[in-house]
Amino acid sequence: MNETILSVSDLQTHLHTDDGLVRAVDGLSFEVDRNETVCLVGESGSGKTMACNTVMGMVDPPANISGEVRFEGENLLGLSESELTSIRGNRISYLFQNAQNALDPVYTVGDQIAEAITFHQDVSGEQARERAIDLLGTVGLSRPAERVDEYPHELSDGMCQRVAIAIALAAEPDLLIADEPVSALDVMIQGRIIDLLDDLRKERDFSLVLVTHDLRVVASLADRMVVLYGGTDVERGTTADVLQTPAHPYSQDLFASFTGDGERGDDLATRDPIPPQGCRFHRECAHAVDDCRDSKPPFAAVEGDDAHRVSCVHYGPERDPGEILFEARRAGAAFDDPEETPKQTAEADGGDSRD
Ligand code: SF4
Repeated sequence: MNETILSVSDLQTHLHTDDGLVRAVDGLSFEVDRNETVCLVGESGSGKTMACNTVMGMVDPPANISGEVRFEGENLLGLSESELTSIRGNRISYLFQNAQNALDPVYTVGDQIAEAITFHQDVSGEQARERAIDLLGTVGLSRPAERVDEYPHELSDGMCQRVAIAIALAAEPDLLIADEPVSALDVMIQGRIIDLLDDLRKERDFSLVLVTHDLRVVASLADRMVVLYGGTDVERGTTADVLQTPAHPYSQDLFASFTGDGERGDDLATRDPIPPQGCRFHRECAHAVDDCRDSKPPFAAVEGDDAHRVSCVHYGPERDPGEILFEARRAGAAFDDPEETPKQTAEADGGDSRD
């Protein structure tokens, strides 16, 4: 039986800004099992990054945060800052989007990895340095005994992201949250870093939450995926199920635009700080009916599959989503074809540690 390591329930992160209240996360729920990879997928402004920041306790006040974030059964939202600090960077690590910005330019990469080690572990400076060298080798940097004394500006973007991964793994976390970890890198490097993360997760038995809008990345390494729109989850399931039969009309639009069969021009999720009541997607949805404006539709199984669930009024025991499911199969067609599966693209870049 799978063991849940992270359970997020009805998470709300509402920010007080000069422009008023922004419901950045608005009723988001998802779970992550031990040793699995879950991708959070959606457009810019869908709430992916803010949800991860909330899980990590990294949201600056003023903000109203409610719901539950249970990590190994403990609700992180109820912890003091010092209690959270003992978990953050230790049992849960975070990998930022842009490693060059995340690393401190005035310290060597070895010092920064060693600091992450000694912050949570009782080891000597020499032991921490040796571990830093080991970690640099583990993340695929050549000549780690020399690199340990180099500064971030002496390394390429890809190398810096490897250093950031080494820092994230320094305390041997149970859960790694990675926010668009390859989006700032050249396309040729992206596949290598994704392969590295996948290999490390399997070798070191941690769980991975990956934020991305890149379906090639999702297809490459996610066991399950959650589709977000307007700060909330609209569909979740195994990666194969959701990619091949996207049941929510927003998922269908998103995937079709990614595979070139459609276009999502304006990003309403970005422009609308206060999502509408009811289904967040109803202003854009071609299948909207009056019920869609009342409240967020409850999740229902897709074609009787309890592992694949969607929040849409057209699904459920008494409903027939016939036309929408027909479109689902059309939208997911590219993911059925091995020649077209984006996974091939990501894997083709892998295998070389020189960035
Ligand atoms: S609930 Fe209504 S608006 Fe939302 S996706 Fe389904 S049909 Fe469209």
